[in-house]
Amino acid sequence: MTTTTQTTCPYCGVGCGVTATLDGDNAVSIAGDGQHPSNKGSLCSKGTALADTVDLGGRLLHPRVDGVRADWDTALARVASGFADTIAEHGPDAVAFYVSGQLLTEDYYIANKLMKGYIGSANIDTNSRLCMSSAVAGHKRAFGEDVVPGCYDDLEAADLVVLVGSNTAWCHPVVYQRLMAAREADPNKKLVVIDPRRTATADTADLHLPLAPGTDVALFNGLLAYLANNGFTTDLPGGAEAIAAAGPGRDIQGGDIATVAEAVGVDDADLQTFFEWFAATERTVTVFSQGVNQSSAGTDKVNAIINCHLLTERIGKPGACPFSITGQPNAMGGREVGGLSSTLAAHMGFDQADTVQRFWDSPAIAREPGLKALELFEAIEAGQVKAVWIMATNPLVSLPDADRAKAALEQCPLVVVSDVMRHTDTADLADVLLPAAAWAEKTGTVTNSERMISRQRAFLPMPGQARADWAIMCDVAQRMGFADGFVYEGPAAIFREHAALTAFENDGDRVLNLAGLADLSEADYDYLAPTRWPVTTCQPLRAAGAMPARQGVDQLFADGTYPTADGQAHLVAVTPRGPANAVSADYPLALNTGRIRDHWHTMTRTAKSPRLAAHIPEPFVEIHPADAELYGITDGALATITTAWGQAALRVITTERQRQGCLFAPMHWNDQFASSARIGTAANPAVCPISGEPEFKHTPAAIAPL
Ligand code: SF4
Repeated sequence: MTTTTQTTCPYCGVGCGVTATLDGDNAVSIAGDGQHPSNKGSLCSKGTALADTVDLGGRLLHPRVDGVRADWDTALARVASGFADTIAEHGPDAVAFYVSGQLLTEDYYIANKLMKGYIGSANIDTNSRLCMSSAVAGHKRAFGEDVVPGCYDDLEAADLVVLVGSNTAWCHPVVYQRLMAAREADPNKKLVVIDPRRTATADTADLHLPLAPGTDVALFNGLLAYLANNGFTTDLPGGAEAIAAAGPGRDIQGGDIATVAEAVGVDDADLQTFFEWFAATERTVTVFSQGVNQSSAGTDKVNAIINCHLLTERIGKPGACPFSITGQPNAMGGREVGGLSSTLAAHMGFDQADTVQRFWDSPAIAREPGLKALELFEAIEAGQVKAVWIMATNPLVSLPDADRAKAALEQCPLVVVSDVMRHTDTADLADVLLPAAAWAEKTGTVTNSERMISRQRAFLPMPGQARADWAIMCDVAQRMGFADGFVYEGPAAIFREHAALTAFENDGDRVLNLAGLADLSEADYDYLAPTRWPVTTCQPLRAAGAMPARQGVDQLFADGTYPTADGQAHLVAVTPRGPANAVSADYPLALNTGRIRDHWHTMTRTAKSPRLAAHIPEPFVEIHPADAELYGITDGALATITTAWGQAALRVITTERQRQGCLFAPMHWNDQFASSARIGTAANPAVCPISGEPEFKHTPAAIAPL
């Protein structure tokens, strides 16, 4: 018998709907889901190859304790007693969870509830901290809440799309496909790409501004000043201060555009063109991603972009908004339930701790922000955190200064890792290793970059003794004596509770509101169609034989009302500042790390697919030919990249796509796939002081022939 299941791609934040078909021989085939509004049937290379990744090769199928196979009772008892004893002896802040945008919303909800409401600490952070936390902090400063005001339809409706720090063609390919299709239908639509590298995305732009690394605030301040000088005014709070802070660009109308162009390292005429296009185009969407967020000035960069949209009132209208595109499939769902240590739950802050505790009726509540990702590993290193539970992520590859994190874990008294793979750099250091369900076996929801909640549905049985993450955590919570709060029939019950919490004591002061989903029956949860939040009223969600039209609100902030104390959006005065660690005589090049088209994170899945692995078969470093000559580097040879934090050995690609003075290396490879290629060991651990997001886009580095 053949069965087809509608589910969601587990890779990037586009959140495409896929159909998984299982034939009579249990062979899996994958196609785009034509009913999903985010991708309308399209998939990229990674999504298309998903069937290559669902085999059981390398899977962790049984719990392991101290390196030895164990039963679930033994493993859960060790985790529960280890955490309970540590808390009893050293207090709740001596334990921590480090989780992941790969978790489903229901998993994330349970992790957050256990740590913040029952253990009573906010020491739960997520790998989303490395990805989107600057956008979160920027949204809160501007809008009062972590709300993404746009949706993918806006990209198609826009007459000008500005992509900043986003190689969309490779990293969010279906969004890029939608954008290209819209431009093909209407060649008058313009695309500007702002990126130090000439990426595949930049190749198709009407205008590419290869700005110098880290100069985004100077560029958007210059734009703000230009707009102010060309008739745009605002009475919004912070508007006058933001314009006054826009610095040298304030004199642009007087002919000083060259000052800004020189500061950001682009051609005067090109910058003038960009400013003129932005000023003249009502329907403008500015998309930003990790190139903006992963910076020691990440939050200021986000607000510099949002300022320009608020000044021109290009927000809350079709085809007009600033638009943060998330990196992971459920980065936004994790933010909704409080997966970051800096928020509580349902977008509530710690000033609303009593509200959350009332809803949970919990024995404790975290009242202050906890440790952010890098702080968390520093606290482990310092011996302050003595028990850590890492779920669905491989921080010893993905964190900056990753060997320091490795040393910290090596001396941590209790390291628990939940994963689907038997061996990862992180799993190999676990005292307790717990087998989690993988993508094809998991049931729950995720929220993509356009606030679309989609169902992820299992289509394969859980292998061996693998279990759902939420179920593992509930078992541990019960063994810690928290039975009352952690008895659920399944993920639908968890989702209903999450939805009810978003509506609890919410008189419209919080945009995240899922009141309309708080009473979903099991059947309605099963059939839940992609739904964009907020969903404040209950509507029929089920249709016989087909997904119904989506619910929810497309255009937020259309009435000019924001979830701030004064109900208004706020501009934020920002001033340019350089990267935390400048290049120097010892480390003269700026290393930028990022993704390639066909691999995902630390390659535990994508490396299984021969067609994906064939795209770029080995780790590399890109360098401008002039720099290669200067440092004696040959195209195709191996070179050593050295920074103040570590080293990696990579194959050299010389290309004029790189700016002079810059290097690019992919983040994916680790010691399992290529020796000495773990670029995270060399990446700069400086963080944005507001968001805590690391500066992956600027690490001072030296290069030498191997
Ligand atoms: Fe998956 Fe992203 Fe590709 Fe869509 S664009 S198929 S979500 S990797």
